[in-house]
Amino acid sequence: MAGLVAAARARELGADVRVLEKGSRAGGSMLLSSGVIWRYCDFEEFRRQCPGGDPSLQRLVWERLDDALDWLGRLGAPVVERDTERAFTTGRRFEPRGLTAALVRAAGTIELAATGEPEAPLVVATGGSPVRLARERGLLVRSNAWSEGDGIGLALQRGAEALASDEFYGRAMPGPVPEEQFVAASQLYGRFARRVNDLGEEFFPGEPSWSENDLAQAIAAQPGGRAWYELDAAALERPEVADRIPFAQETEPLPGGGLRVRVHAAVTHTYGGVKVDERARAADGVWVAGVDAGGISNGGYASGLAQALVLGLAAAESISS
Ligand SMILES: Cc1cc2nc3c(=O)[nH]c(=O)nc-3n(C[C@H](O)[C@H](O)[C@H](O)COP(=O)(O)OP(=O)(O)OC[C@H]3O[C@@H](n4cnc5c(N)ncnc54)[C@H](O)[C@@H]3O)c2cc1C
Repeated sequence: MAGLVAAARARELGADVRVLEKGSRAGGSMLLSSGVIWRYCDFEEFRRQCPGGDPSLQRLVWERLDDALDWLGRLGAPVVERDTERAFTTGRRFEPRGLTAALVRAAGTIELAATGEPEAPLVVATGGSPVRLARERGLLVRSNAWSEGDGIGLALQRGAEALASDEFYGRAMPGPVPEEQFVAASQLYGRFARRVNDLGEEFFPGEPSWSENDLAQAIAAQPGGRAWYELDAAALERPEVADRIPFAQETEPLPGGGLRVRVHAAVTHTYGGVKVDERARAADGVWVAGVDAGGISNGGYASGLAQALVLGLAAAESISS
């Protein structure tokens, strides 16, 4: 997303732009997403939820998001819901294919399956390194297939500073699924389950956070990066559970009408990356946007699409100023 946003905004400001895309299609993980671009209603809540992030970058995303959403609307990106489902967050839900199409139209020609050394000024926006992290840790991938940390490596080579973090945004998944099922098949009901690893240990005491991102990371730390969700008969009746169970790939009955469901940790995007300032600048001639930039969601969970949108705009405006 961030690369398309930066290209669209830079063209709007009069720049000539080349867009190099490694994959066979544009849109990255944005195209696979639920399309909800959001922020916490209250900045203090953002700080509480993501205490490891850089307050000035968080402030940038928080303050600029509403205008940025209007900008997306002006490009013709189709809004399907004008607010989020949660009282403590606000934003808009876009239809991901229409959102991608609107950005592609505005970004100009996109060179697909592109390789080679890009020139300066350069906006790096390659979607972090979920594919590499998943490979290294033996986890599932729940992102586009091309984000392997290339942009982070390039920015570091050109003088940017690394921002290390082991954290990622992820979900519990029933097993490998085709990318069009990444949203529907997520097993997002761990709060109603007893959470047990392959050694039979309950590994996650207490309540998972509202996003269950903390639980996904705890599953990643279990043997094999997997676990079981044990559900009693009452939990199985809940709509949040019943809607997701049909995607389960491995289950075992429990006494009393319960069920245990196999879940695997899957990586959507990484939190480590490149250090940027509030103009998305990382080094001379290098801007970094989207989740290649670290330091926003750390310690919790915040919208990756919001990060991509705001940093993409900030990079284009900084280059054009
Ligand atoms: C199933 C799913 C649901 C999600 N739902 C939401 C949601 O509702 N709300 C939300 O905020 N976030 C959501 N996300 C996360 C969100 O999609 C990402 O945080 C966001 O897309 C990150 O934007 P980005 O521009 O950094 O990366 P991407 O959108 O992934 O774009 C990165 C692009 O860089 C390309 N690339 C990689 N390497 C290179 C290279 N070397 N050269 C050129 N191009 C390269 C990739 O192919 C890709 O097109 C979801 C993600 C998934 C997978």
